[in-house]
Amino acid sequence: MEYNGVIYRPPVEANTILIPITEGCSHNSCIFCNMYRSVPFRAWSLNEVEEYLSNFIGVYGGYAKKIKRVYLVGADPFVISAKGLVKRVELIKKYLPNVGVVSMYARTDNIARKTDDDLRCLKDVGINDLYIGVECGSNDVLAKLNKGYSADDTKEQCLRLNSVGINHCDLLMLGTGGKGHGLEVAAVTAALENAIKPTKILVNTMSAFTGTKLDDEIQAGSFTPAGEREILQEEYTFLNGLELPNTYFWAIHPLDSVGVEGMLNTDKSRMLNTLARAIETVDETLYKRVSRVGTL
Ligand code: SF4
Repeated sequence: MEYNGVIYRPPVEANTILIPITEGCSHNSCIFCNMYRSVPFRAWSLNEVEEYLSNFIGVYGGYAKKIKRVYLVGADPFVISAKGLVKRVELIKKYLPNVGVVSMYARTDNIARKTDDDLRCLKDVGINDLYIGVECGSNDVLAKLNKGYSADDTKEQCLRLNSVGINHCDLLMLGTGGKGHGLEVAAVTAALENAIKPTKILVNTMSAFTGTKLDDEIQAGSFTPAGEREILQEEYTFLNGLELPNTYFWAIHPLDSVGVEGMLNTDKSRMLNTLARAIETVDETLYKRVSRVGTL
């Protein structure tokens, strides 16, 4: 089987075996994103997944028995119905019998379409560690980003995941509010995260890429990006407001000007000190967020 499009996966899953399940994104309309613009959304059929797994076994043979965790590829494979996901996980376990954890990206609206029984069933087959594009805690900002769901929606759905024991890892983006709004967005985002208790928080910084509506808005003057000092202040305020001792904080994306990572219970002060130093010394001319190149 040939996969259509580029494969993106969370950096913290760099060592996990990837299994293609979907291509593209079922939403594909966030104004800052060009990752899947030319890739129509498509779920792989069970036959296609089986063919891939069969080829995989042909290449890796006995190594298959050592695999305990897999990552399902696509922008939001969790859009597939609970029944469809269970069938795909059963297929994976037929070929990779010791797989215990199946992780993937999920959108908030993917979760909303599943019943509590669905979620319990998915947890029982090993689905865990869902990576969710939370982006920020401001309903107004999320509407402007055309995210397709609000912070309130994310809160409701992540609390449902928590209640059935499915862990979620939240992807947050700095700079979403634009110039002058960083601190207020940081405060509501920290409040949201404190309420929904992710196991991991992954941070990157919003940039304007070629062909995105965000880029058009910046060119037209209807959105003014925050400067790098404000972005670092937003990150400092966000991190400082987090009260999640058991959460891992990861902010070393290539789009982040300063890399910090660690457990919040032991490394928060160190990370805050690093950000405080960067706020004092940052050269804003070096970090223009109007790059208009590349992708996320
Ligand atoms: S940010 Fe995620 S949900 Fe939004 S269009 Fe891109 S891949 Fe889809």
